[in-house]
Amino acid sequence: MADCLFCKMVSGEITPDTVHEDDDILAFKDINPQAPLHVLIIPKAHIATVNELSDANAATVGRLFLAAKRIAADNGLAGPGYRLVMNCNADAGQTVFHIHLHLLGGRPMTWPPG
Ligand code: AMP
Ligand code: ZN
Repeated sequence: MADCLFCKMVSGEITPDTVHEDDDILAFKDINPQAPLHVLIIPKAHIATVNELSDANAATVGRLFLAAKRIAADNGLAGPGYRLVMNCNADAGQTVFHIHLHLLGGRPMTWPPG
């Protein structure tokens, strides 16, 4: 998608602070971190929201979570814990319409979220 911020990161037009990349996935530091570790994990394929997911995307979405678990462990967060969040549309506060899994950790968090 030409006008998608995260597609521009996948294509290299914008250079993120990358923490992981493979054939299907890119993970990079959030520009406005809400926790000591705040990483966004995205599929390289453009999918606007969770509402657009289909069975064809199941393996890719699974890989987002596997990447999150690895990045959390690499940062010493497997034991202390971390939060994984994917916002969908306005009520959840989604601002970038290319799905992304937020990995947040390094501080205690409250529930329910705001
Ligand atoms: P969401 O509100 O769930 O759509 O999350 C979008 C996230 O993208 C926010 O946490 C932003 O801080 C983050 N973000 C926006 N622009 C950039 C950027 N250029 N590099 C890294 N993260 C970004
Ligand atoms: Zn995109």
